Amino acid sequence: MSEGKATVLLEHHLQALRLPTMLREYAPVAAACTTDKADYASYLLRLTERELLDRERRAADRRLKAARLPVMKTLDTFEFAAQPSVNQTLVRELMRGEYITKHENVLIVGNSGTGKTHLATALAFAACAQGRKVRFWTVTQLVRQLLESREDRSLQRLLTQLERHHLLVLDELGYVPFTKAGAELLFEVVSRAYERQSLLVTTNLPFEEWTEVFGSQRLTGALLDRLTHRVHILEANGDSYRLKEAKKERKRTRSRTKTSDQTPEEGVETTTDRGIIT
Ligand code: ADP
Ligand code: MG
Repeated sequence: MSEGKATVLLEHHLQALRLPTMLREYAPVAAACTTDKADYASYLLRLTERELLDRERRAADRRLKAARLPVMKTLDTFEFAAQPSVNQTLVRELMRGEYITKHENVLIVGNSGTGKTHLATALAFAACAQGRKVRFWTVTQLVRQLLESREDRSLQRLLTQLERHHLLVLDELGYVPFTKAGAELLFEVVSRAYERQSLLVTTNLPFEEWTEVFGSQRLTGALLDRLTHRVHILEANGDSYRLKEAKKERKRTRSRTKTSDQTPEEGVETTTDRGIIT
């Protein structure tokens, strides 16, 4: 067979077998193997390794996209020093993802701006990288979707889709109270997930106040029972990070304004560029 014909056939076969990385790399890797005096098996090994790596990378990208994370936050950018109430050891342990293997849940409780969504996103990101199927929802979004799909008779399909995930993140429980139907549908999701999937819930609500949001003591009891049976609780009870950052920014602006526009004797009251009298 002529070399040209062999090349055409090889490229066709690699395409038909869906091996795009091998198709792209077979020639340059062959050249490298000639230089290195590598044998045939090593050549094939190098090529298949690249195909596998690329395939894993593509699958991870797909999983990450499908997870619909609201922002891309990882643990690298989380300052534990800024939020000492967060149990760093537990966060690092959860990042390893064993809780998902064991179908355990995670509850992140704390005031607004304390990094709950940041941590939830970081954990979801880590889970995607570990090959888990993840889906991030705000609770309001999910309840709306459940109610809508019940209306158009696709509820069972949605529930089945949700069940296919290893980890469901339910962000911001408690910000908006539910209707009776909404609460019941959310209970259905929690109930189906029990001991089969992991739920990661973030909330600003202490347990005593859950009944108010769910509207029924019986339902809240049953839901908490399932959610907290095997749960890791992370508390984030410090000051709001956003607020602290805004205050720092104000201080910075104030000291800049002072050094450029004012001598210290001119007084302490300064208008910053945010228009705030400090
Ligand atoms: P919550 O969900 O608790 O209201 P977020 O996770 O949305 O708070 O945090 C608000 C903002 O502050 C986000 O931009 C987040 O990345 C940032 N943030 C909060 N806590 C920290 C922290 N400890 N280190 C770094 N960034 C933080
Ligand atoms: Mg949040």
